[in-house]
Amino acid sequence: MSENRVVQGRMVTPKHLAEMVEGESVMDAESISDADRDCPECGGDVLEVGYMPSVTEFVTGYKCQDCDWQAREE
Ligand SMILES: [Zn+2]
Repeated sequence: MSENRVVQGRMVTPKHLAEMVEGESVMDAESISDADRDCPECGGDVLEVGYMPSVTEFVTGYKCQDCDWQAREE
């Protein structure tokens, strides 16, 4: 069910990607998709993942596939 993607040379699951953005463990994550934006740091492709850090929160996380850039939107 989960679709793994390559981020900075490593295969990550949706939950792992969400945890990279959040900086700690998350409850649940949706599947990873390609974001409609390029990385502001390196121009690389950006992945998007919706996740729940806790039962009451939903966050959209963004992570560059090529560098350390990441962002979160609540
Ligand atoms: Zn980048």
